[in-house]
Amino acid sequence: MTALPETAIHPNLLLYPYWAEVIRIKKEAEGVGTIWLRFIDPEVRAGYRFAPGQFNMLYLPGYGEAAISISSDPEETGVIAHTIRFVGNVTKAISRLKERDVIGVRGPFGTPWPMQEIEGRDVVIASGGIGLAPLRPAIYHILHHRDKYGKVLLIYGARTPADLLYPEEYEQWRAGGIDVQITVDRADETWDGQVGVVPMLFYRFRIDHRQSAVLTCGPEIMIRFVIYEGLARRIPPERIYVSLERNMKCGQGACGHCQLGPYFICKDGPVFRFDMLQEYFNVEEY
Ligand SMILES: Cc1cc2nc3c(=O)[nH]c(=O)nc-3n(C[C@H](O)[C@H](O)[C@H](O)COP(=O)(O)OP(=O)(O)OC[C@H]3O[C@@H](n4cnc5c(N)ncnc54)[C@H](O)[C@@H]3O)c2cc1C
Repeated sequence: MTALPETAIHPNLLLYPYWAEVIRIKKEAEGVGTIWLRFIDPEVRAGYRFAPGQFNMLYLPGYGEAAISISSDPEETGVIAHTIRFVGNVTKAISRLKERDVIGVRGPFGTPWPMQEIEGRDVVIASGGIGLAPLRPAIYHILHHRDKYGKVLLIYGARTPADLLYPEEYEQWRAGGIDVQITVDRADETWDGQVGVVPMLFYRFRIDHRQSAVLTCGPEIMIRFVIYEGLARRIPPERIYVSLERNMKCGQGACGHCQLGPYFICKDGPVFRFDMLQEYFNVEEY
């Protein structure tokens, strides 16, 4: 088990990492895994709360920090999950952790999905690849408060069936009243479902622009086309919410690494109302 550097423990969880123990690791797809953490300090464990869409900075001494969205149920206390694509220095080191190892956590940071603002509305959740991770807490929230929302449609796509996240949960989500539509870019012999990219599925469903809100996260190209489709169906930009990822370092609007126009993704985002971004995002209304 990694030794805990004393100096890193501080009452301010946003400035200094708190140590958490790895309690479970699950492979989700090739190069992607979910890691469940439990804070070692019982006070932090009992007091830590997050809102759907927020992220933590995960810290491994000697490697650095990476911004990773929280992918677990916000109403579950004591443990948090992060679903991670192991791409670089920090995340590859995280992929080598074992149960009972420890990792530093700063957070939660960032703007959440607008779960209260969209109450009473139909909700379209459009997501691709690992972009489902920051949306899963929003899905859990809707399932816990299903009567507060109208129709809920989840459109989720991945490159291949093997890249789909959380397939074991789709039936449970359907049973909870969410229309779960899954698509893949490339089918294989295991797949008899829909084939095609996420924005194409917008054509197959009747979406009432007068009362729908869109939540979207995924590859930037997918987000652009989801926004095109949303705007084309006359969903107003202020009811389209986007979660963006950018190269992020400090997590608190000081270093400027994640700046987009006047915004810092870490402090003003990652969830934005699209009308705030329209000018900087190169998607025209038509
Ligand atoms: C708000 C926010 C939330 C995020 N949530 C998640 C999350 O839930 N899960 C997750 O896996 N990542 C998430 N990320 C992305 C993650 O922070 C980056 O992938 C981070 O750079 C990883 O750190 P690293 O040191 O391992 O890789 P780095 O050394 O920073 O990057 C190594 C190489 O990988 C490339 N790279 C970086 N990110 C990606 C990527 N996503 N896909 C492909 N190539 C990439 C870089 O360009 C670089 O070439 C989030 C980012 C932000 C800003």
